[in-house]
Amino acid sequence: MRQKIVAANWKLNKTLSEGLDLVNFLQSKVNEHDDVIKIICPTFPLLYPIKEILDSSKKFYLGAQNCSAYERGAYTGEVSASILKSVGCEYVIIGHSERRKMFGETEEVLFQKLNLALQNQLKVIYCVGEELDQRKEKLHFNVVKSQLDNLLKLSNEQLQNVIIAYEPVWAIGTGVNATPKQAQEMHAYIREIVATKDADIANAIPILYGGSCNAMNAGQLFQQKDIDGGLIGSASLKGEEFLQIIYAAS
Ligand code: PEP
Repeated sequence: MRQKIVAANWKLNKTLSEGLDLVNFLQSKVNEHDDVIKIICPTFPLLYPIKEILDSSKKFYLGAQNCSAYERGAYTGEVSASILKSVGCEYVIIGHSERRKMFGETEEVLFQKLNLALQNQLKVIYCVGEELDQRKEKLHFNVVKSQLDNLLKLSNEQLQNVIIAYEPVWAIGTGVNATPKQAQEMHAYIREIVATKDADIANAIPILYGGSCNAMNAGQLFQQKDIDGGLIGSASLKGEEFLQIIYAAS
């Protein structure tokens, strides 16, 4: 049985006081006995103050939205995996489509980030997903397969610290989610690809769905056999709604 995971990607939202209020609210409401791993990914400056108020008994963990492809040195504005680890981060999102697209992150850069994150004992939420025109041209399986190449280059030991997030780009922030059937089909395919490397890892690796997942559709999505939870953007910014998504996973 794979444990359910719900990760909040706050993107470029929430001031310090707003972020602390939201985390305090969530922690006051969740059921200590649920078995859901909950990950909050705020902006960099909020990581440490949020870490200080996290109650580990509620299974909330801290994640960053990005890390540098460099370890240290003259890279103004960058934040390394080791610095993230030092402030209490346990997870990092790598390969989000917004970073691939708007910040030009190539497969090579993503591979460097993956390795540095894993070397620094961060667990990686690795995002893959096709654009709308690629789905229309029925290229979505090929696109996702090639995005998974970086993961197949990792050692089995490294891969055990990876969570995959399938996020079709056409579903992100659009209000149009993949149907449970479309998502399940891709998740099963992703598991098949990972199985070409190692069947046990494929069976154990968590695969999250992301893209307009909300309180209304989370239940049906999370019931699918190969969907192990969600990476949630806009719906994670509202306390009540994010709680409902957590409940849907528990
Ligand atoms: C995301 O960007 O990771 C995401 C899932 O966004 P949204 O939930 O807003 O579609």
